[in-house]
Order: sequence, then C-alpha cells, then structure tokens
Amino acid sequence: MTIMMARPHVMVVPYPAQGHVIPLMDLSLILVKQGIKITFVNTKENHDRIKSALPCGDGLLSQIYLVWISDGLESSEERKKPGKSSGAVLKVMPEKVEELIECINGSESEKITCVLADQSIGWALDLAEKKGIRRAAFCPASAAQLVLGLSIPKFIHNGIIDKDGTPLEKKGIQLSPTMPSVSTEKLVWVCVGNKTIQRHIFQLMVKNIESMKKTEWLLCNSSHELESEAITMAPEIIPIGPLLSCDQFGHSAGNFWPQDLSCLKWLDQQSPNSVIYVAFGSFTKFSPPQFQELCFALELSNRPFLWVVQPEESKLAYPEGFVERVVERGRVVGWSPQKKILIHPSVACFISHCGWNSTLESVSNGIPVLCWPYFADQFLNKSYVCDIWKVGLGLEPNESGMITQGEIQSKIHQIFIDEQLKSRARDFKEKIHIGTGQGGLSNKNLDSFISWIKS
Ligand code: UDP
Repeated sequence: MTIMMARPHVMVVPYPAQGHVIPLMDLSLILVKQGIKITFVNTKENHDRIKSALPCGDGLLSQIYLVWISDGLESSEERKKPGKSSGAVLKVMPEKVEELIECINGSESEKITCVLADQSIGWALDLAEKKGIRRAAFCPASAAQLVLGLSIPKFIHNGIIDKDGTPLEKKGIQLSPTMPSVSTEKLVWVCVGNKTIQRHIFQLMVKNIESMKKTEWLLCNSSHELESEAITMAPEIIPIGPLLSCDQFGHSAGNFWPQDLSCLKWLDQQSPNSVIYVAFGSFTKFSPPQFQELCFALELSNRPFLWVVQPEESKLAYPEGFVERVVERGRVVGWSPQKKILIHPSVACFISHCGWNSTLESVSNGIPVLCWPYFADQFLNKSYVCDIWKVGLGLEPNESGMITQGEIQSKIHQIFIDEQLKSRARDFKEKIHIGTGQGGLSNKNLDSFISWIKS
C-alpha cells in the first residue's frame, strides 16, 4: 500500500502594506517553484488592487491561491490614518484568519502545514502555535531594524526611552561602528502620528517581538554581505535575501497599482548612465511647496528623469509651464516597474525615500542612492547607504524642514561626478550577489528553509 503524503501547504500572511506584500510574494513565488502550495492572505482591499493591477494574461500569480479576508475598515481613507490599519489588523483579522484555517483544514489533503507570517503581525504566529501548526516569521525590513527592536528592554534599562517608548533625550543610537545610526527622534515608533499612536505602535512592536521570538524561523530579507554585524549580534535572524524576483516582462507580483511598462521603452531611448529615477514608495506624501521644489530641481538638473508620481500626488500643482518645459527629457508615471528600472543600463541614480525594498533593489543593482527618508525605518536605511556602505548621499533639510531645490541639484551633481562612490556602488553589487548566488549564505539559508517546509 502506498501512503500519499499531503503536499506542503504554506499560509502566507503579510502585513497589509505594499512594502510588506511584495517581498512576501517574491518568497511565495520561490516556494511555489519548489512544489509547495501557497495560500496568500490579503485584505479585501489589497486583494482587489492586486488582481486589477495584473496585466491581462499574466501568469505570474496563477499558481498562488490568493484569498482575502476583511480588515473591518470601511473606507480607503481610514486605512491611511496612522495606527488605523494596525488597529484593524488586530481587531478583526485574527478571527477571520482562524476561520480560514479551520475551513481549509477541513480537507485532510489540503491541510496547512506551515504559517509564514510577517514579523509585524505576531498574532498570526500565535494563532499558528495555538492550532499546532509550524510557523516562520518574515521580516521585510533590515536586520538592524530587528536588532533595534530586540534591544528595546536594554534601551528602557539604560534610560534611553521610557516604558512607553518615549525617548528621554534626543541622542543618536549606534549599536556598533559598522551598524547604521538613528536618532531617538527617528525611531520607528517615534516618527509616526501623535503620542497615543506612538504608544500604540510601540506596544504592538513589543508584543510582536515576543511572538517572533517563539517561532522556528526568523527570516529576514537581507544578507551577510549587507549586514554582517547585525546578523552576528542576533544570530536568530536568518537572512535569505535580497529577494528580488520579477519575470522577463518586468512584472513583479503583488503590486497594488498597474505598472506602467511603457517607461521601459522610453528608458531604452536614453543614453547609458544618464537617467535620474525618482520614486518614494507607497506612503510618502509631499506638501505642495516641497513638491514644487523637487520639480524645479529636476528641471534645473538638465538631465533626463523618470519620476513616479502617484495619481493622488499628481493633484499637487506642478509649477506653471513645468510639464511643457520638461516634456523632452522627463517622464512621469503613476506606478513603475521599479525592479526592472533599476536593472536598466540608462539609470544613473535613484532619488529614494529609502524604504528597505527600494534600498535593496538599488544597491543590488549598483545604483547610487540620493536618500530622502520620510518615516519608519527609512532614516536607519539612509544611514546604511550613506555612512556604512557609502553608496549614496543624503538630502538634508534646511532649518524649516524643507529640502530645497539647491540642495537637490547640488547632490545630483555630486553623485554624477563622484567616480569613487559610483565604483563603490558597483563593487557592492558584486558583493551582494555572492550571497544570493550558488553556494552563497542567503541561498543556503533559503534551501534549508525549503527543506524544513518539505520535511
Ligand atoms: N514600487 C514599484 N513601483 C513604483 C514604486 C515602488 O514597483 O513606482 C515597488 C518597489 O519596487 C518596492 C515597493 O514598491 O518593492 C516599495 O517598497 P519600499 O519598502 O521601498 O517602500 P514603502 O512603499 O514600503 O514605503
């Protein structure tokens, strides 16, 4: 008699934000190729966005079971308010995910054998534990960010923050000379919303860290080549990155908005190493004066540029005549195929908000970064780029908090003429590829993880 083994079935639960969904989709696609069944759980809003952003006939996601649950929020406006989404994630989603697991596990051959959850939704990991399902946490941010989180008790003990996470003084935190630094004012939970929201995010982080500590795997979208010190400090972190999959058409999976692929043809027509790519991820919002300052800087730079301006932002006024004046050498799109752009030989540098995914995509392709952090872990990532890896420059605000056109223009000029910086960026790219290549540590870790899922 032959005993049929059930196929390994992983339920993937991302935090419902673009920079969390994309890398977990990347990981899911790798697992699917290994014969592992994936059920990917989105909120209803994100599920609909991902489905409608897919180009017709795109087969990239056909092997992943995309399912949705409600997050309990009524309007898309509500989701953008700091703390609203994380609150909803806690209130409504645990029960819905539990129902989903029970429903799927009703069929013996389809049973979920592992829950792979975003590190920032610890309840999904707790739920798996309660149900007796194996679990793994995935961190879409840097290992240094995780180490900062793990150091919270030490920060409280040393009087750097109080028990609610509020900094007791403004000072820089750098855990070692080869780790990035961050001001206490820019700690992830400190640079969001008002005091109540900050406290809420801090408590959530502390809770998530406790759940994460109990998992079998703490995967991180990073590598020894990028962050050896952070990984040495917290050996429980297993780096498997950078995960940067996209297909031959430049589609990457899990986008909330349709990617405008026509800009790739435009890039083909530009000279090598000439284009400034400008994109600030999915959250960054500019004030109208700041938006205009950037317009002027791009215009005065006299270089070709490709700029992602999301439809909502494009309501901000361009300076009079701007569009007509730059039409010859500027291209604005609503959402780009960013991974494909950063591989393109025409791209010279990236003006970025330094989200971890954007940072990885840039440095893995040897593209120097002009760092313009906005919130969350982006200040820490900026420090990696500018102070530790030295593959980019920071855009510094003036005393009123504005990044002026003069500052942007001057840093664009500097980055174009700094041959040493460009050469460091190219060398760093080679180094990063060692980790993900055959025999590299990230590659080996990923293989071990896959074997564990299949075991
Ligand atoms: N992205 C994209 N097209 C765009 C802008 C961003 O495909 O026009 C992708 C980008 O490649 C990255 C993700 O969206 O994978 C953004 O993640 P990140 O961590 O950089 O920023 P967040 O949106 O979380 O602030």
